[in-house]
Amino acid sequence: MVKYVGTPASNGLAVAKIKVVNRRIAGFKRVVLAPHREKALFNAAVILAKDELSELIKNSDGAHRDILNFQLVMLDDEGMKRLINEKIEDSCGAAYAVEIAMEEYCERLKSINDGYLSERTTDIRDVLTRVIDILDGKHRERFELTEPVIIVADEILPSDLAAMERKYIKGFVTAGGSYQNHANIIARTMGIPSVCCVDNEVLNPLNTDKIVAIDGYTGEVFITPNEGTMALFTHRMNLEKREDTFTNQLKHTKVYAPDNTQIHIFANCNDPKDIALAINNGAEGIGLVRSEVLFMNCNLDLSLASQIRFYTECIRACKGKEITIRTFDIGADKPLDRLESEKEPNPALGMRGVRLMYTQPELFETQIEALLVSADRCGKINVMIPMVSVVEDITNYMAMVERVKTRIMAQGIITQDNINWGVMIETPSAALISDELAQMVNFFSIGTNDLTQYTLAADRINTNAAMYYNPVHPSVVKLIEMTVNNAKKHGIKVSICGESAADFESAKIYIEKGVRCLSMAQNAMLSIKQHIIDEFSSES
Ligand code: PEP
Ligand code: MG
Repeated sequence: MVKYVGTPASNGLAVAKIKVVNRRIAGFKRVVLAPHREKALFNAAVILAKDELSELIKNSDGAHRDILNFQLVMLDDEGMKRLINEKIEDSCGAAYAVEIAMEEYCERLKSINDGYLSERTTDIRDVLTRVIDILDGKHRERFELTEPVIIVADEILPSDLAAMERKYIKGFVTAGGSYQNHANIIARTMGIPSVCCVDNEVLNPLNTDKIVAIDGYTGEVFITPNEGTMALFTHRMNLEKREDTFTNQLKHTKVYAPDNTQIHIFANCNDPKDIALAINNGAEGIGLVRSEVLFMNCNLDLSLASQIRFYTECIRACKGKEITIRTFDIGADKPLDRLESEKEPNPALGMRGVRLMYTQPELFETQIEALLVSADRCGKINVMIPMVSVVEDITNYMAMVERVKTRIMAQGIITQDNINWGVMIETPSAALISDELAQMVNFFSIGTNDLTQYTLAADRINTNAAMYYNPVHPSVVKLIEMTVNNAKKHGIKVSICGESAADFESAKIYIEKGVRCLSMAQNAMLSIKQHIIDEFSSES
C-alpha cells in the first residue's frame, strides 16, 4: 500500500481502479513553415477547436456549459489572436506561438491578483491546449470510460469533464488543481470525491488499473490499500450510503402541523447558484431572494439589462417552484456605498428599504421594470417590499409600479403583469395595520430579524443589546399572531423568512400561532424538518 496526502477538494469516499491521464508526456519535433502558412494553419485549428467545443456544449449543462461557452468566446479574443500572430511573425511556428502566448496571457491574468481571473487561467489553458493539440495532430485524450474508475491526472480540465461519461467516474485525484478550480467545483456539485495537490509520483502510468481508495474529507489517497484500510473504507461507505438514503428521503418528505395542515419549508437565497442548490436540497420554494446582496457583493452594475439577467436566472433556477424576490433593502445594516445617500444619525430608523424610493426613484423604477420584464418572460413570481411602516409606502410604491407598467406595456416590452405583490411585516407598525395592508397585497412575509429589533428597541447588530433581542418575546409573538390572523381573514398567504425560522424552538411557537410556511438558510431545512417530524407528525 502506498499512501499520499493531498488537499481535500470534494467530500466523499471512493474505491475503484485507477485511470492515469498524464498530459505532461510530450516531446516530438515540430516542423515550422513560413509565417503566412503557419497563420493559415492556426486559423484552421481555431475553426476545428470551435467545432469540437460546440459539440461538447450540446451535451453539457449548467456551470459546465458556461465554462465551455467562455472558452468559445476566448477563441475569438482579439488580444490573444494578435499576440499569437506576432509570435508566428517571429517564426515561432503556430503551435509554439500558441504555447508562449498562452503562458504570457495567463501570467498577466495571474499578476492582476484577482482570484476570479486567476481561476480562469485553467479554462484558457484548456482551450488553447486544444488548439495546440490540433496543430500537433495529437489525438486528444477522450476519456473513453467503460467501467467505474478514479481518474488520476495532472489536472482535470473543463473540456475533459464534458467528454467523460459521468456514471463511470467514482473520484478524482490530481497532482495540480486547487480547491476552487472548476473541476473541483463541479465535482462538489456532482457529489464526486476529489483530492488535489497530490505528489506528482501518483501520475506514474504503472498505477493504471491498480485499486485506489480516496478520502475526499481528509485528502488521503491509498494505492493498493491493505486489507484493514479496505475494510474501514467499506464500512464507512456503507454508513454514508445509509445516511444518503435517509437524507434523500427527508428531502422529499412532507411535514405537518398537529392540525394536519402541511408546513412548507422554503429557502432564503442570494443568487441563482444558491437557488439551484436549495431546490436540489429539497426546498419547496424560495421564500426570500435578497436582491441587494448581489449588488453589494459583486459590484455589478445596476443597469436594467444586468438586473433582468439576474432575476431571470434566479427564476429559471427555481425550476417552476414558487420564488419571492425582495425589492432592494438598502440602508442600515446593509449600506450600499455606491449610493450617494445622506449620512444619517440613526440609519435603522432612517431612509432604508422602501423609503429609498423617495430619494432614489430611478433606482426603484429600473428595478420594477426589470422585475416586470423577467416575470413576463419566465412566469409568475412573488415580489415583496421591505421596511413598510405606513399604508402610504404601499400606495406610493404601487403607483410607481403602475407608471412603469403602463409605459412598458405601451412600448410593447411586456404583455402582462405576472407579479404577485407582497409586504414584509418587519416593523411593529406594519403588523399593527396588517388588517389594512392585507387588503392591498397578495401575501405577507414576516421578517423576524427586523421585527424583533424594532419591537424590542434592540439593535440587531449590537451585541450589547443582545439580551433584549428575543424573536419569541411575547411582544413579538403577539405581532406575529395578529399578522397571521389578518392574513387568514383576507385569504392571503403568510410566511416567516427571518433567521428564527431556522431555530426549532422559535419555529414551534410560530407554527402554534398558525404559520405554515417557514423560509430559512438552506442548510437548516432538513434539520427543521426532522424536528417537526419528531415533535408532530409526518407523511411521505
Ligand atoms: C428580516 O428582517 O427578518 C429579514 C428577513 O430581512 P433582513 O434580515 O435582510 O433584513
Ligand atoms: Mg429585514
